[in-house]
Amino acid sequence: RAKAEGRGTFRIYSRAMRAHAAQRRRLSNALATAIATGRIDVAMQPQFMLSDGAFAGFEALARWTHDGRQIGPAEFIPIAEEHGLIVELGRLVIDKTLQAMRNLRLKGFGVGTVAINIASAQIRHRGFVSMLETAVRRHGLFPQDLEIELTENILLDDDGDELAITLRQLRAAGFSIALDDFGTGYASLSHLGRFPINRIKIDRSFVSRMGYGQERAIIRALIGLAHALGMAVVAEGIETPEQLRQLQTYGCDFGQGYLFSPPIASPQVEAWCRTDLELPASAAS
Ligand code: C2E
Ligand code: MG
Ligand code: MG
Ligand code: MG
Repeated sequence: RAKAEGRGTFRIYSRAMRAHAAQRRRLSNALATAIATGRIDVAMQPQFMLSDGAFAGFEALARWTHDGRQIGPAEFIPIAEEHGLIVELGRLVIDKTLQAMRNLRLKGFGVGTVAINIASAQIRHRGFVSMLETAVRRHGLFPQDLEIELTENILLDDDGDELAITLRQLRAAGFSIALDDFGTGYASLSHLGRFPINRIKIDRSFVSRMGYGQERAIIRALIGLAHALGMAVVAEGIETPEQLRQLQTYGCDFGQGYLFSPPIASPQVEAWCRTDLELPASAAS
């Protein structure tokens, strides 16, 4: 009986798995079409200097609306990676971001430094650096206007020195580099010294647990370590005035989060620049 049950369970399980696989296949086909027709958007989340509340720039975040429903990047980026779409998707995100920056500049807005999230396969793709340089130039912008955001786990699969070489090329060209989601992955401190990183982004999970002494100690130590290594620190996911106040006390350099602004859909970014190009008065210290 147990055997029969086991087999039945297996049959149901595999049917569910097949349905799941079919669903992902449908999504990846739809995603491929969206990429080919340019129907991926970028939302922009503003970043501020925590010392004086000055606007510092944006992080560009990919957005996809499929069948009238928003699918988050946490869902579609892995699909793109699995189905060989990430290089094309990444190129489109870069292009859309640069277009948005150019439009804002032409209208007289200083958009600061804009950070773009880059996937592992993308940064390892041959010619990534020259592609980026060409794209920036084509839009009348400069490498100094862009920051490349890599999650810390990308540093782990560095076989040989290829990634370190690419990052040094990016720096030499004038791009800046941020290490995303710091503290959540498996990178060790020794990785920090090996790669030319400008800014470390403290993951939201640390910021959200900052009410606890342990997390506060970790954040303080991370900020101290980053500064000792000549790197600046960005805190992400700042949601409360109390979190902001503490981060300011610890000397955290930059921040982003719902307290200041959620990511802004591309059609609204210009209006936001017009009215809000500074830290909301209620959040400034
Ligand atoms: P991330 O780079 O760490 O981006 C921060 C995420 O936190 C974003 O989620 C943002 O909307 C969200 N967030 C910002 N402030 C707050 C806050 O105060 N509270 C809370 N609860 N959340 C906040 P999103 O846009 O869903 O992106 C998820 C992840 O997907 C990103 O994490 C990034 O790793 C990845 N991603 C997004 N766009 C791209 C892209 O163009 N390329 C690649 N390779 N990855 C991307
Ligand atoms: Mg990011
Ligand atoms: Mg992050
Ligand atoms: Mg994150």
